[in-house]
Amino acid sequence: MGGYMNRILRVNLSTREYSVEPIAEALIKNFIGGRGLGAKMLYDDLSAGVDPLSPENEIIFVAGPLAGTAAQSFGRWSIFFKSPLTGGYFQSTGGGFFASEMKFAGYDAIVVTGKADKPVYLWINEEKVEFRDASYLWGFTNEETHVLIREELNDPFVRIASIGPAGENLVRFAGVFSDRHAAGRGGGGAVMGSKNLKAIAIRGRKTVPIAMPEAFQEAIKFEIATYRAHPAFESFSRTGTQIAEFTNLLGMFPTRNFREGVLPNWEAIQGSEFDKLRVRKTGCHNCVIHCVNISKAYHGPFKGAWSEGPEYETIWAFTGPIVVSEPGLTIAADRLCDELGLDTISTGQAIGFAYELFEKGLITTQDTGGLELRYGDFKPVLQLIRQIAYKEQLGALLSEGVREAARRIGRGAEHYAIHVKGLELPAYDPRGAKAHGLNLLTANIGADHNYGYSGQEIFGAPIPKEVDRFEVQGKGELAKFNQDMVAFLETGIMCTFPASMMMVNEEVYSKLIYAATGVEEFKDPAYMWIVGERIYNLERMFNVREGFGKKDDVMPQRIVTEPMPDGPSKGQVFEQDELLRQYYAARGWDLETGIPTLEKLRELGLAQR
Ligand code: SF4
Repeated sequence: MGGYMNRILRVNLSTREYSVEPIAEALIKNFIGGRGLGAKMLYDDLSAGVDPLSPENEIIFVAGPLAGTAAQSFGRWSIFFKSPLTGGYFQSTGGGFFASEMKFAGYDAIVVTGKADKPVYLWINEEKVEFRDASYLWGFTNEETHVLIREELNDPFVRIASIGPAGENLVRFAGVFSDRHAAGRGGGGAVMGSKNLKAIAIRGRKTVPIAMPEAFQEAIKFEIATYRAHPAFESFSRTGTQIAEFTNLLGMFPTRNFREGVLPNWEAIQGSEFDKLRVRKTGCHNCVIHCVNISKAYHGPFKGAWSEGPEYETIWAFTGPIVVSEPGLTIAADRLCDELGLDTISTGQAIGFAYELFEKGLITTQDTGGLELRYGDFKPVLQLIRQIAYKEQLGALLSEGVREAARRIGRGAEHYAIHVKGLELPAYDPRGAKAHGLNLLTANIGADHNYGYSGQEIFGAPIPKEVDRFEVQGKGELAKFNQDMVAFLETGIMCTFPASMMMVNEEVYSKLIYAATGVEEFKDPAYMWIVGERIYNLERMFNVREGFGKKDDVMPQRIVTEPMPDGPSKGQVFEQDELLRQYYAARGWDLETGIPTLEKLRELGLAQR
C-alpha cells in the first residue's frame, strides 16, 4: 500500500516511554487517513468525561497519506484532542512543512499522552525519539523557540511545532505553531501546555511510497489543470484569503460584536490595500496555489510591523469586532498572536466582546487595568492580547473564552458572548448566508467556517447548483454536502481553501488517493462521500458520548432574534429552528435529539447490525 508510512508513534510523557504500531488495514479502508485516522483514534483512545487539561487527554498529530508527495495542497497537519474550550471533539489544522517532515521521518501520526514532570520537547529523528529538557525554553515565543531548538540540534532544516506563553499559561484558545503556520483553534496549545510539552521537533529523509507512480503523475496533472481552469485560481493565488470586500458587499462582515454587517471605511482593508503591503509570496509544501502573503506595515502607527498573513479571518478579528479599519493593526496583532501562541479569531472576538461589555457598563477600567475600551479606538488592542496570553487583569477572564467569561461576569453578559458550543464565531454573520450559518451551528468542533464552507453562498460557486444565500429551503442538504466534502478531502489532508473555492471535487481526489495508495475501494469517487459522512457521524458520536445534542446546536440569541439593521443583508435573521430541522433530516438524525439514529450508524458501519 502506498501513501502511508504505516507507523503510528505513541508517546507517554508521564513514563517517558514510546512505541510504534502499524495502522490496521480496516481503518485505512473505512477512514482513509488524515482526519479519518485522527477522529477514529481519538474516539477509541479516550473515555467520556476526560478533563481536557489532564494527563489522560491526548493530542494526536496526523499527516495525511498524500503529505510529502507531489500531490498539490496536501502539506497540512492536523491535531486532534478533546478541547479545553468546548469540552468536545476537536480538530485543528495548520500548513507549512511539518506534515511532510512527519512522513519523511516515517510517521503518519504521533499520539502524545500523559504529562512530563518538567518542560520537555520531543526530538524525533526517524527511529530515534528523545525527551529533551525544555525548561530553558519555557516562556519563549514561538519564533524564539524554533531558533533555539534548531541551534541546539545544529540543524536548520528541523521542522518544529510549538506553543508560546499562551499555551504554557493554559489559555483555552492557545494554538500550536509551526513555521508561522497555526493550528490555532480550540486550545490545542493549552493541551500541550498542560502536558509540559513545549514542542515537537522532527527530521527525516525517507520517501513516501507511491503504489502506481505513472497514474499518480497523471492524477497530479489533472489536479493542477482543474485548479488552473477555475475562474478564481489566479486571483486567489495572488491575494490569498483577503476577501474583506466580498463579505462587506454581502453585508455579513461581523461588526461591533455581530451587531452590524458592514464595516465603515471597509475599503481600507480590501485586498488591493493589502497588495500594497505584500513583501513576498510564500506557501506550503508542494502547493501551486502558493496563496500565503508576508506583509509589512510601511507607514502609519504600526510602521515596521510584519507578519506571515494576515489571512482574512485575522484581518476581520482586529477590525470588525472593534470597528477599526487600520491594516497595520491587523499585521501587528497577527504577529503578536503568532509569537505568544494565540488563535487570532477567538482573541479578536474576545476583545470585541470586552468592548461591548465596557460600553454596557458591565466592566470598567478597574477590570481592564485602566484601559478604556471604546469602539473605533485600537490603542488597547495589543495590550489586551498580552493580557490574555499572560492571564493578567481582564485577560485572565477573557483567556477562558467568551462563554465562560460571560458566565463568570453574569448580569446578562451571556447575551454578548458570540459562540457556538464555546467556540467563538468567525468572520461571517450567519444571517447573511444560511447554509454557511447552519455549518457554524452544527460543526462538530463548534462555530468553525472551514468545516463546511458555503462557497456557493459566499462566492456564487454553482456546485452542485446555484443558490440564493437568504433562501432557507434546501440549506440542510447543502450544509451536509459541504461538510461531508471537507471531511473526505481532509482524509488527504487537503487544504480547505481549494475546497472552499470549489476548486476540487471527489473525482480529483479519488484519482490522487487511488493512484497513491492502490486501495481498490478508493477508485470510486462515490466512495469518498461515504467516508466523509462516516467521519462526520463518528465525530458527532464522540460529542454525544460527552453529553452533547440538540441543546448544544444553539446560535447566540442576537443572531436569531435581531434582524440585520442595515446594508445588503438588512432585515435578515437566522431561522434556527427550521434550518436545524432540515439539517437533521438531511443527515438522518433524530429530529428531537439531534443524535444519529441507529439505522444511520449501521448504514455507515459505525454500529453492529
Ligand atoms: S492553498 Fe495556500 S494555505 Fe492551502 S496549502 Fe496551498 S499555499 Fe498552503
